[in-house]
Amino acid sequence: MPVADLAELRWDNSFTRELPPDANTANRVRQVHGAAYSRVMPTPTEAPELIAVAAELLEMFGLDRDIGDNESFVQAMTGNAVIAGSDPHAMCYGGHQFGNWAGQLGDGRAITLGEVLTAADGRQTLQLKGAGPTPYSRTADGLAVLRSSIREFLCSEAMHHLGVPTTRALSVALTGDKVMRDMFYDGRPALEQGAVVCRVAPSFIRFGNFEIFAARGDIDNLRRLADYTIATCFGELLDSHGIDPTSGPLSKEIHVDWLAEVARRTADMVVAWQRVGFVHGVMNTDNMSIHGLTIDYGPYGWLEDYDPGWTPNTTDASMKRYRFGAQPHIASWNLERLANAIYPLVEEVEPLESALNSYVSRFNETWPQMMADKLGIAGFDPELDQSLIEGLLDLLPRAETDMTLFFRGLAEIDTASPVIDDDELLAPLADAYYLPDQLRGDHRGATVAWLRRYRERVAADGRPDAVRRRAMNSANPRYVLRNYLAQLAIDDAEQGDFALANELLDVLRKPYDEQPEHERFAAKRPDWARTRPGCSMLSCSS
Ligand code: AMP
Ligand code: MG
Repeated sequence: MPVADLAELRWDNSFTRELPPDANTANRVRQVHGAAYSRVMPTPTEAPELIAVAAELLEMFGLDRDIGDNESFVQAMTGNAVIAGSDPHAMCYGGHQFGNWAGQLGDGRAITLGEVLTAADGRQTLQLKGAGPTPYSRTADGLAVLRSSIREFLCSEAMHHLGVPTTRALSVALTGDKVMRDMFYDGRPALEQGAVVCRVAPSFIRFGNFEIFAARGDIDNLRRLADYTIATCFGELLDSHGIDPTSGPLSKEIHVDWLAEVARRTADMVVAWQRVGFVHGVMNTDNMSIHGLTIDYGPYGWLEDYDPGWTPNTTDASMKRYRFGAQPHIASWNLERLANAIYPLVEEVEPLESALNSYVSRFNETWPQMMADKLGIAGFDPELDQSLIEGLLDLLPRAETDMTLFFRGLAEIDTASPVIDDDELLAPLADAYYLPDQLRGDHRGATVAWLRRYRERVAADGRPDAVRRRAMNSANPRYVLRNYLAQLAIDDAEQGDFALANELLDVLRKPYDEQPEHERFAAKRPDWARTRPGCSMLSCSS
């Protein structure tokens, strides 16, 4: 029987129970030493109002479908009421930001409520983002604005349905408070509506949680956190070694194996990003989940025209450190920072290096296979097909080509007819080009040549078109949260109309299905969105 009261869930707050708290309970900004977290209460808000709830998450927790109608749920999801059984706290972590060690960061505006044991999905942690200041708020206000909250809510759910490892979102709500933001960092701050997202993940532990203890030489707490994380979140690893986590500190072999597992999960996450054209935008080590989940949706974006050099983040516009094409390398760099952080637990370089190699080997194994899936090749042969893949990735950025539409169009190519003229060959792809004029001359010739090669390869592969098409359409989404779509939902929400946000949530539940009634959400970026902020570029202001 679903329950209608969050207090009835099975709360089991292992993080606060097993790790050291900050002895100082005052909610004042400071450096916090010798602690994994600080207990802190969310700040009450003026007029909480629910915008959207994800039904799948209600189901995960065994909550009543109509719980959104309960005032007590709305109060809890905005931090206005403390749920019996929860233990609100903010985590202490550090991080490398844009390549440099940044010292203590921590949950500056996220307050974790606690952990719930679910029937089918194990331990799940609930966290409110934008619920008020914490000891880690540094110079900021602890709040979040409506636009960034809608972006996080919709994208985390969209990513889940795309099959990309991600934190989830249970709800998004208005706080009723106003928040001052200088959206363009141009000295013109304005008041915006405040909002809170309730995020859900097995845990919100980041690479940075380990880095902060290592940086401070607090090896006891580094070990406690690592052993806690492995025992609580990586139980299978201990099982495979036949180890009972209560029998004392874990060995260095376990720590090394764990790093290798984190590396593999991170590789899987990044390969999934590259498959769907997701650009995280701020891959700092404090934004890297230890579970290999996409976390902290800030100035992220979706590739529209395929451009490996693209980043949506204006703060990164000159260096483009976190551009689409660099994500695989950056993930590896971040893993190296994690390896450095846990070095004191292992004290040997070689095994850590070999654990890091798990990232490279996993990536090199799964990335080409992922590309083969996108191309619909069943009998993938890395030797034979590598140049086919390279040929395509070389071709795509030469004209503004919508990545999502291109791969869905490619599935429609006829490979059965023995003869096909160039126009017929190109027809299924026509919609993918932003500037049809670019499909002339040399580029047209090169595209036709590649497509003919592709036809031959597919013919040799032996899969009938209908079978190939079905397979491709399960690797290449029809619907992604295009940057301009999120912005349209935000524009409406800012006027108090949440229908589009909820409609998008619904469409993005089945991103691989043709949904003729929702065809407009598959359309490529309209011209008005080419340069509009929020659609093409985003600042970190959120
Ligand atoms: P991000 O790059 O957005 O993940 O944030 C980096 C750090 O800044 C984290 O420690 C955040 O908690 C903190 N932070 C970001 N925005 C705010 C805010 N409005 N108030 C307090 N802390 C914030
Ligand atoms: Mg962050």
